[in-house]
Amino acid sequence: MKALVSPLGTEIQSLFPDDSGFVADDLYTRRTYSKDLMPRSHILAREGELPEPTIDAVVWPQDSNMLAKFIRAANEKGWELYPYGAGSGVCGGAVPGQNQERKRPRVVVDLKRLDKIEFVDTHSQIAKVQAGIIGQVLEEDLNAKGYTLGHFPSSIYCSSFGGYLATRAAGQLSTYYGKMEDMVLAVEGVLPNGESFTTPVAPRLAVGPDWNHLFLGSEGTLAFLTAAWVKIHKLAEARRFLSFQVESTEKALDGVRQWLQAGLHPAVVRIYDEDESRMLMGLKSGVKLVCVIEGEQTLTDFTALRINQMSMNYTGWNDTGEEPAQHWWSHRYDVSYRQQLIMSHRRMILDTFEVATSWAGLPGLHKEIKAITDEVAKKFPGKGEMLVLLAHFSHFYHCGGNIYFTLCGRTPEDTPTVEFYDGVWDLLLKACERQGAAISHHHGIGRLKAQAHKRQRGVLHDLLKKFKNELDPKHLLNPENLGL
Ligand SMILES: Cc1cc2nc3c(=O)[nH]c(=O)nc-3n(C[C@H](O)[C@H](O)[C@H](O)COP(=O)(O)OP(=O)(O)OC[C@H]3O[C@@H](n4cnc5c(N)ncnc54)[C@H](O)[C@@H]3O)c2cc1C
Repeated sequence: MKALVSPLGTEIQSLFPDDSGFVADDLYTRRTYSKDLMPRSHILAREGELPEPTIDAVVWPQDSNMLAKFIRAANEKGWELYPYGAGSGVCGGAVPGQNQERKRPRVVVDLKRLDKIEFVDTHSQIAKVQAGIIGQVLEEDLNAKGYTLGHFPSSIYCSSFGGYLATRAAGQLSTYYGKMEDMVLAVEGVLPNGESFTTPVAPRLAVGPDWNHLFLGSEGTLAFLTAAWVKIHKLAEARRFLSFQVESTEKALDGVRQWLQAGLHPAVVRIYDEDESRMLMGLKSGVKLVCVIEGEQTLTDFTALRINQMSMNYTGWNDTGEEPAQHWWSHRYDVSYRQQLIMSHRRMILDTFEVATSWAGLPGLHKEIKAITDEVAKKFPGKGEMLVLLAHFSHFYHCGGNIYFTLCGRTPEDTPTVEFYDGVWDLLLKACERQGAAISHHHGIGRLKAQAHKRQRGVLHDLLKKFKNELDPKHLLNPENLGL
């Protein structure tokens, strides 16, 4: 650890005897922790416009008792606290906003030292996991015991379990194993006043509200989440790979709807729309669909058999064999890291937008959001600019699914890049709101989508704000995130 340079750093360190809490307040650490992976911050940094560090210190408490003690002290002193997992969030949720008014000392609280699996009950198939463990480490530790959590986000190497809880994250195999909120039985945490709590640990219970759902997805605004009890599964005995080329996105969606509504649960289904199939996979017509099934041997074989039987009767569907799905599987963590190459070019913007709606709403939502390219051209006329919107559908449920858009564009010469970026986001969010769809399926809201979130939630957002005021009257915990 570097020597502390500020009175604040020294004061924080004095709260932690021995090595029960590390503190850093040097410029390098503060710069690093002043942004997460929201592309807007990358753009500002690239164009030399990222403000000086927006935080004053970072602290790494040893365990939840030291965390609670620190929170109580911070409350008395009026320090703002920002819960931080691994900083892989893409919505600016873990750190103060670039324009957020600086009122009080700001401390990022990194939870990576809370990194244990506390226990595994193989009979009930429950594990209790601390918040700071990195996704890949958690998965490898469970695998060594013959189990899996079944949560495989593309960011698995650089994201934490606490981040998954706080954003209701989704892994690539969610159609079988569920999304994070489906995996959790109970959560443990510390409230903004330093009081610890545990929600009831039971497979189901009658009385509401469901406390888990109050805290899951609260993006560090209502509590520090320190651990959770989660479902685990035996490692898959078998895995099957299928793929299809389908005449159109609509036909592919309709076929997959019928699989899900027949009670079939493949682990992965990905439908790439016409543009993504053409531009990324070289298809001359139609759309690509890959499917991976895993689990117990007989069930896996049966699911593959039924999917094949049903798909043979669909019009416009052609079986393209195992290879495309196997190829996807072996490259499943590759694609997301290419963004750095594109983002290194001046004036380029790149981001993702993941939305969700019912089966009936999916085609209209897809169309409405794709159509914003024309609105962008009208709003930002200029020579040489362009915006490309690719889309795939990758998480499915009985009643609907998500759409994952990748947007890539070049800013017109006479427009500041951040202005273009914010303008594109405004159009994207409004298109989604017009369709009444969820403006985030799994990345969360953060500061990026806070205004749209407020618009969409209306009176419910006011209610949540009242609750937040009760819990955190001084607004010390991640102020302004989620628009709170
Ligand atoms: C390349 C790439 C691929 C991605 N792929 C996926 C994907 O497949 N699926 C997916 O869902 N997301 C994905 N993401 C987004 C991101 O990885 C997830 O949102 C992840 O859940 C964030 O975890 P984190 O530990 O990095 O959280 P952070 O970024 O540190 O924090 C995210 C939010 O959670 C809060 N928070 C973090 N830990 C706690 C805690 N213990 N208690 C209370 N609040 C807390 C923070 O304050 C912040 O608001 C991807 C991101 C990248 C960069």
